[in-house]
Amino acid sequence: MEYKQLIREEMYDQLIDAYSSTLASSGFKQLQFILKNGENFLNFSNLDIFGQDLKPLRYSIREIENTQKPLEGFESGPLYNGYRYIYPLFFKGKFVGSVDITLDLDTYLNLATNALGGEQRFLMKWDSIVQSSLKTNDQKYIRSCIDPSFIFQKKNNFNIFHTLSSMNKHQKELVQKRLKGNQAFSIPIFAQTKYSLVTFLPVLDIEKKVSGFIVGIEQADFLETIHANFIKNITLTLISSLLVLLLLFGYFKERYLLQKLVDSKELLEHKVKQRTLALHRNAKLLKTMLETIPTPVFYKNLEGEYLGCNKAFTKLAGKELEQIVGFKSKDIFNNEITKKFVLSDKKALSKKETVISETKFSFPDGKEHHLVIHKSILMEKDTPVGLIGVIHDITKQKKSQLKLKEAFNKIKLQQEILESDHDIIKKYTIFTKMNLKFEIIEVSDGLCNLLGYSEKEILGKRHFEIVGKKEDDELFVKARNAILEGKAFNGEFLAYGADGNKIWVRTVISPEYNDKNELIGYVTFSQDISREKMILEHSYKDELTKLYNRKKFNEELEHALSFYARYKDATSLILFDIDKFKEINDIYGHLIGDKILMELAAIVAENIRECDILARWGGEEFALILPKTNIEQAISTAKKLREKIISYDFEIPQGVTCSFGVTVFQDKDTTDSLIKRVDDMLYRAKKEGRDKIIFDAVQKH
Ligand code: GH3
Ligand code: MG
Ligand code: MG
Repeated sequence: MEYKQLIREEMYDQLIDAYSSTLASSGFKQLQFILKNGENFLNFSNLDIFGQDLKPLRYSIREIENTQKPLEGFESGPLYNGYRYIYPLFFKGKFVGSVDITLDLDTYLNLATNALGGEQRFLMKWDSIVQSSLKTNDQKYIRSCIDPSFIFQKKNNFNIFHTLSSMNKHQKELVQKRLKGNQAFSIPIFAQTKYSLVTFLPVLDIEKKVSGFIVGIEQADFLETIHANFIKNITLTLISSLLVLLLLFGYFKERYLLQKLVDSKELLEHKVKQRTLALHRNAKLLKTMLETIPTPVFYKNLEGEYLGCNKAFTKLAGKELEQIVGFKSKDIFNNEITKKFVLSDKKALSKKETVISETKFSFPDGKEHHLVIHKSILMEKDTPVGLIGVIHDITKQKKSQLKLKEAFNKIKLQQEILESDHDIIKKYTIFTKMNLKFEIIEVSDGLCNLLGYSEKEILGKRHFEIVGKKEDDELFVKARNAILEGKAFNGEFLAYGADGNKIWVRTVISPEYNDKNELIGYVTFSQDISREKMILEHSYKDELTKLYNRKKFNEELEHALSFYARYKDATSLILFDIDKFKEINDIYGHLIGDKILMELAAIVAENIRECDILARWGGEEFALILPKTNIEQAISTAKKLREKIISYDFEIPQGVTCSFGVTVFQDKDTTDSLIKRVDDMLYRAKKEGRDKIIFDAVQKH
């Protein structure tokens, strides 16, 4: 025993300097020599303890005897709970025992902290130290809030502990599950207003089993931190540097774990991102929308401080965002506006409902605007936390309202003038009002004067009756149909006045509606175009006979031909010429000749239908278009006219006869072909002895 004691003391003397200058100062708590049989021989941290059999207490002592190879790992012991490096000792090739250097947990953590960055703590499995005497040092540890089979080292400013405590149930369950997996992992946690990444790195014990985790908490990219701190730590003492390297080596041996850790971090981040993406998108959309809309929007807290606003509001206030946020209305607007704003704020808060106020407001550019402000309370879990305001600029509406009012007043004034001038209007305009039965219920003096009838004679009658037309008159039917369809009708009407004079009017007939948009009747507005018509007719008339002239006849022939092309109604043409008229002129003189021409024209005009068109074609030649008349009917008309002329007394001794050419329209006819054919017939009549009717034989079936 004494021999052992001597060697012990000798060893102590030789190594104490190295121990205290290097190992102890580097955080090693223990330098211990163990004999082959597992007996504790010399312990530098506690010289009084030796001779104790460590084999039953420590796995490493039993293991090194079998393997005789270095061991490292976390192991609890009777004195220290730490990371041990155990090396076998040989004398002349024979295993004689081992030396054990134990790194205190705090030192281990400091190294880990230096290497990994951020705050690091041990989270140990209770089982891994349960057999040790550390049980007595229980107060150094605290049960983990996540999983009671784990314990935490107690420390000041225990950030990690708080962070982990603040995890929600779901996160806690996740961590529990991952802890059982014995692999490195990390989990993002939002706690204490910070978003942290908590990393769990497995700590291997001497048996290469996971005995716990180093829990790290950080905000920065930890890989970068590892790198930076590694460079920094190179200046540490040789041993500690070596240990850092060892640690790192051990760490990188688990590179696949590290990769997994990075992956799982990314995966988790991705999931978190995904979950918040929709929310962000909505928030972004809302923000963009708020910024884009021209409507000023602001929100403030209960103290009346502006918390935020959109661009439109900054424009309205004429201030930068920084000059608004954190300030009150009085710092931004003038006294008058501030008073109004504060008042409506109070009103909204006391009534707890949206308050709408209207105010005039001078913009920074000096222009006065009319604003309507909606203020609503901002609630958070049933408690009012602030106000949100939306401002509508109704200046334009106000302006147009004003303009509308002005316009309305003008119209009203004009209406008044119109009403006062009603008599004048009634006197000079030509208008009638009809009820739904087309009976005239109002007539202007203008129309009474034009027609030569009194108001009494007109009221209650229908238009066609007054102007001497029949109910089925083509133009009147057309006009009625149009207005019955709700359309206005525009046309030229020939009317006969009280003394039989011809009056031409251009008339617009339109439906009349009341305020409720119900049809109540019809109104006519007319313009006297008799003079215009007269001038026009003048150019169409032959002065002597008062018949249409050749120009008008040509137009009418053209019209009849196109009508025939469309409707194929049989239409005939007669050309007749006074026989030997030159002689009559020669004998009785030109005046008598003229008189005969006039009388003959009148006889013919009287003996044809109203729709027939009679014209003086040339000197003593006349043309007659007969619509809806076939060749037989045309021949009989010619015969009738021949008879009438012969039997008329022209007051000259000799009788007056005419020669007739008669033809009927054919499909391929042109005005020229028609004239030529009828002229040929007339020529033949003359040639065959005059006073004859020659017709188009082709058409006589
Ligand atoms: P025919 O039987 O072949 O028709 O013989 P006509 O004499 O009637 O024919 P002609 O062509 O030789 O003479 C037509 C005459 O008609 C010549 C002209 O003096 C006369 N005449 C034409 N226009 C007028 C008119 O406006 N007034 C009068 N008084 N005579 C007219
Ligand atoms: Mg003649
Ligand atoms: Mg002639």
